[in-house]
Amino acid sequence: MKFNTSLLHSAHAPEEKNGATLTPIYQSSAFAHQTAEDLEAVFNGKKPGFVYTRLNNPSIDSFEQRVAALESGIGAIACASGMAAVTLAILNLVKSGDEVVASSGIFGGTTSLFHCLEEFNITTQYAADNRIESFAACISPRTKVIFIETIGNPKLDVPDIAALAELAHQHEILLVVDNTVTTPFLVKPIKLGADVVIHSTSKYINGSGNSIGGIIIDSGKRKWNYDKFPAFKEYEKFGRFAYLAKLRKGIFKDFGACMSPFNAYLTSIGMETLGLRMERACETAYKLAVSLRSCAKVKTVNYPGLEDSPYYQVAKAQFNGKFGAMLTIRVGTKDNAFAVINSLTYAANLANIGDTRTLVIHPASTIYATSQEAEKINAGAYDDLIRISVGLEDFEDLEADFQQALGKLE
Ligand SMILES: *Cc1c(COP(=O)(O)O)cnc(C)c1O
Repeated sequence: MKFNTSLLHSAHAPEEKNGATLTPIYQSSAFAHQTAEDLEAVFNGKKPGFVYTRLNNPSIDSFEQRVAALESGIGAIACASGMAAVTLAILNLVKSGDEVVASSGIFGGTTSLFHCLEEFNITTQYAADNRIESFAACISPRTKVIFIETIGNPKLDVPDIAALAELAHQHEILLVVDNTVTTPFLVKPIKLGADVVIHSTSKYINGSGNSIGGIIIDSGKRKWNYDKFPAFKEYEKFGRFAYLAKLRKGIFKDFGACMSPFNAYLTSIGMETLGLRMERACETAYKLAVSLRSCAKVKTVNYPGLEDSPYYQVAKAQFNGKFGAMLTIRVGTKDNAFAVINSLTYAANLANIGDTRTLVIHPASTIYATSQEAEKINAGAYDDLIRISVGLEDFEDLEADFQQALGKLE
């Protein structure tokens, strides 16, 4: 089955009772059972069923199964937001004293989370660059996880997923991949050896910017070294479902950061057009990158699909011939960047990516406003840089809009 067919048909069947084509919104907090024996069996996992929406719910379950199928995982757990997904995916693996190794160009919210975790004696080492040796140099006996994003934001760097999976497995630790920016349309990290994949479903998976959400997908392939991961011993009986069982019975249930059934429903609808949207947005992003590169007012265009990008080769080999729908441009000064943003007609100036509409932001003064200068540079958030998340408008209109906005610069 190819991608778009899989989007519509994998783990999807019409609802049995009335034939609704999409799993309806089960807007119910709890689920009643006929007998005390029944509820006991469901509670203890001896019988399938639903208990309480913080643990699971039919609308959410349907969404989880569909995303797990798309990502080639054995199961998934949907969360209240992408940040909840990152937090819980990591906390399911680490305890006080443990370390995380991360790529340096990752999402500002995630670096902020890793900073917060220091209070709990969970520390993060950032690889200096994307070379495997740089990640290897950060690994210590306390390291439990390597955490990367498929395309860093706003640096737009591209780590080699298969090589990092191999490195993680040599050390008997896990590779967790945030696939928000590329989606399974470009890459299925589990097929390249990743152990766990997470998404902010608020972005491309939903596609219309109408719900915050996140999801954690498990490969089920990890062989646990109980010296490194003693807490997993208790879940040995779940076999390849140990990671998901520990998560759902433990930190996921107890944090209470579940997805709402309504958001699961909206996000399921949005996801059905993921392939069409990504195809179109990636194509337009490439055309816009080429067009802006020949504009005299643009100092540099950063897009992994341009052959002179340092990340072109890895991206080409890894992303199914696509390069994502985000690019950044540098326009000389912060004033110039603000002037361009203020002159654009179609691009909304806001802190989001992956909407139907084209979005722009000046990362240095917003997402990275509280970061140190060195952190900003390391993340690629330069003062004159504009991040563009390309939407579904016609390329000709977007090109004309950027040309007129850039044309107003001195
Ligand atoms: C937005 C985003 C997140 C956080 O997701 P929310 O749904 O906003 O909590 C995490 N990772 C990446 C790459 C993102 O773009």
